Amino acid sequence: MIVVIRPDVSQEKIDHLIKWLSDKELIVREFHGEKQNVLGLIGNTKCIDMDMLKSLDIVESASDMNDTFKASNRKMHPADSIVNLESGTGPKIGGGNFALIAGPCSVESREQLTGIAKDVKVAGANFLRGGAFKPRTSPYDFQGMGSAGLEILLEAREATGLPIVTELMYLHNLDEFIEKKIDVIQIGARNTQNYDLLKELGRSTKAPILLKRGLAGTLKELLMSAEYIMANGNENVILCERGIRTYEQDYARNTLDLSAVPILKKLTHLPIIVDPSHATGRSDIVPSMALAAVAAGADGIIVEVHNDPKNALCDGAQSLTPKEFAKLSKKITKLHKALEE
Ligand code: PEP
Ligand code: MN
Repeated sequence: MIVVIRPDVSQEKIDHLIKWLSDKELIVREFHGEKQNVLGLIGNTKCIDMDMLKSLDIVESASDMNDTFKASNRKMHPADSIVNLESGTGPKIGGGNFALIAGPCSVESREQLTGIAKDVKVAGANFLRGGAFKPRTSPYDFQGMGSAGLEILLEAREATGLPIVTELMYLHNLDEFIEKKIDVIQIGARNTQNYDLLKELGRSTKAPILLKRGLAGTLKELLMSAEYIMANGNENVILCERGIRTYEQDYARNTLDLSAVPILKKLTHLPIIVDPSHATGRSDIVPSMALAAVAAGADGIIVEVHNDPKNALCDGAQSLTPKEFAKLSKKITKLHKALEE
């Protein structure tokens, strides 16, 4: 339920109403906007007498929210959410803060990662990506370096100051991610509907969660997955469009659904970023799709960069070289600025 408070009502009166609603075991989210103060109620709102609520002198309007997604709903929080790192320092994502996340698909060695980290930082990336635990279609392919890969990511963070983004695949690795203060925890397309994992990410950490769209996931399914994390206590969720499976198989790995960006912007206050690498599987069209994503209003781009794409252990065909990334980064900055004007 959404309750709009009349302008110029004192905080004391609002707090009084919040206490009354909380005593009914409802979760109350307060949003202070420039024009409006809104209370979002989550839980069994049937226990509230709507007519009585509407008749209160501090209430301007009250309406039921029929949408299945609540905490992520823009009606709850009309302004864009800005996601911060747990430390409260470093780059932010959303509300005009653009995330340029770059790095290899997987960490392959210290030399490989530190070299790429330095290159992408110089080129303007504000986050470093790299998978230590890799979800591979074939069990015979490189599965990632595991914990040793995480250590290398930490060293690269230390060397460059770039916060790191890396994928968590299994619940049993979550403690290690928390202990190592992984800045942004990525949940990959194959785990988007692993609800036990999502619930635990809500309960155990406030680190930002980069939640990718499922392989053939709908937008509602993506929002409901975000809801699992948020309803369990972690509101720092970043959504990621990474292409979906369609009938196209020959010329693109997936189909980039760019309409997801403006649609999600309407539905939710959470930041939305785009992954043109997994969406296309082709480095030659990654730059144009990245720019199209910026034009569509994305809050960031996550892109794969490799120093030697031909010999990459994973996803070389979709990886940009550092030089190509530097060129793209310049264009993204220009375009983002132009769109802000
Ligand atoms: C990745 O980012 O390397 C990855 C495996 O992505 P996705 O989950 O989107 O396939
Ligand atoms: Mn990859």
